[in-house]
Amino acid sequence: LEVILSFYNFKNKNKINRVNKCVLCGEKKANLVGKINYFNLQEYNMLQCSTCGLVNADPLPDIETIKNGYSMLYSYEKSLETRKSILRGFGRSFRRGKVFARNYLKKLNVKDDINILEIGAGNGYFSVGIKQHYPNAKITYIEFLKDLVKFYDEHHKEESICGEFSSEIFKNRKFDIIIFRQLIEHLVDPLSFLKEVNKVLSKNGIVFLTLSSGRTDFWLINQKFIKTNKSTNLIVNHFNYFLPETLDFLLKKAKFSKKIAFKYNLKAWKKGLGHKEFNSFKENYIPNVEINKKNSLSVLWKHNPSYITKKLLNRDNLLSLIYSCLNIDKEKRIVNYYEDKGDEFFIIAEKNNN
Ligand SMILES: [Zn+2]
Repeated sequence: LEVILSFYNFKNKNKINRVNKCVLCGEKKANLVGKINYFNLQEYNMLQCSTCGLVNADPLPDIETIKNGYSMLYSYEKSLETRKSILRGFGRSFRRGKVFARNYLKKLNVKDDINILEIGAGNGYFSVGIKQHYPNAKITYIEFLKDLVKFYDEHHKEESICGEFSSEIFKNRKFDIIIFRQLIEHLVDPLSFLKEVNKVLSKNGIVFLTLSSGRTDFWLINQKFIKTNKSTNLIVNHFNYFLPETLDFLLKKAKFSKKIAFKYNLKAWKKGLGHKEFNSFKENYIPNVEINKKNSLSVLWKHNPSYITKKLLNRDNLLSLIYSCLNIDKEKRIVNYYEDKGDEFFIIAEKNNN
């Protein structure tokens, strides 16, 4: 086993033997750090690998469960959508794509006629935004939800493939940029995925990925488990929680080198280091937001409005919960990749040709 020197350890109950060995390093022992309930389909232990630091679900979810969960998440999100929120989402993706092209691709002197592959592209407007700066770019989408592929065909008129990503699908084709935003947190085996991505990346190509910071993303699940022994409803389908050192390990194993890497951070008063609040944590801080309730805001508000208002005014960490439920467009700031703070990794990496 390759050993990583140091990483953040979540509070844990005890050491246990895993059902499935660690997908990154093969370790069989782990720390029990949480429990999740996945759409009432299955309960999972959340384990932190003592060797590489990865926090993930054990046993590993099977494909059928994940597909069912995805459909449920998709319809849940659909039920919350309004015409206005949909359009705002399109605009946000488009804007971010433009900013990405202008601030990063241009500076990296990426050639004009790039081949872009976007995996799990959501509404697809991120790549459309890139095309504003790279009109000769060729975009390919791959996505397993049929509805989304239909949407790409109708709205973007680019190549779109319905299916699970694998290098087999692309035979001898190579891409100059492969984009997968907020994707690897959802995968059962992120290492195999990245190795497959590497196979279809051109020699001087780059990958662009964003993902939630495991440290801030997982703290609520961890605290609830430690204090109450209860599981948390997993409504965002995140089966993996990455620390910076774990991500480095993953990228290295899949033969990538980081070119540009940092974290986005919400303003400190919006989202703090929740895990530092461990001692003052109480069970009633976490309303059990049920997935079929129409509006998570009203659920939160019913929970205890005066408490929430007070905490809002006091700029407490509970705000992080409210903001994450409201899914408010983030006012982003950049912090160091290895800092404890920050809730989203931004990584541009290249093929490690050695
Ligand atoms: Zn491991």
